[in-house]
Amino acid sequence: MRAIAIDGPAGAGKSTIARALAQSLGYIYVDTGALYRAIGLGVTLLGLDTKNPEEVISALDNITVTIKFVDERQRVFLNGHDVSEEIRKPEISMAASNVSAIGQVRDFLFSLQKDMATKNNVVMDGRDIGTVVLPEADVKIFLTASPEERARRRYDEQLAKGIEESYEKVLEEVKKRDYNDMNRDIAPLKCAEDAIPVDTTGNTLEQSIELLKQIIFDNLEK
Ligand code: C5P
Repeated sequence: MRAIAIDGPAGAGKSTIARALAQSLGYIYVDTGALYRAIGLGVTLLGLDTKNPEEVISALDNITVTIKFVDERQRVFLNGHDVSEEIRKPEISMAASNVSAIGQVRDFLFSLQKDMATKNNVVMDGRDIGTVVLPEADVKIFLTASPEERARRRYDEQLAKGIEESYEKVLEEVKKRDYNDMNRDIAPLKCAEDAIPVDTTGNTLEQSIELLKQIIFDNLEK
């Protein structure tokens, strides 16, 4: 099976770009952030503190996370309920970042991710795909953009969905999440040694997609 790993911070454009790449390659797009979001939502719904490792670990006994593909789009299920929309709420972003720092949460989701890549050709995006989940991936990309540009994109995206949050608040959250994700002890966000770093600051989405298609074409062994 073939695997393309795309890692990078929040708002770098990973999901939109990864989805477009998967479509053009005929691979499955796996959004691993959605899995951490589902756990963040599950812990929140149980009324527990996402920052408290003991509470989060105890919640895992009452949580199941599964994914299905409907019309080639990933849907995420928490205890059998489709939560694909609910996990996009801004407050769930921080909840996901909090629970993702806990080793047991990462272990809990590891086999699900691995399994997807064993059974399918995948474009998988996240924070530790090239470093931990699929270190043997055929092509690894580390996608970044300035915090201001990432916040602007996230702000526009949220506004289009009717979520009103000020740009300053979104920027603050982007920076806080970067800090959390890069400084945790387990599987921190970092560029794998053999990943290709790509900075999309100033690019349109179409330019970034074309750039990555070219990189993948050049690096995927025939
Ligand atoms: O990609 P997304 O912003 O939806 O991810 C939500 C959070 O889940 C991230 O801020 C990060 O803390 C966590 N995450 C992770 N490892 C992954 C994917 C996401 O720790 N592979």
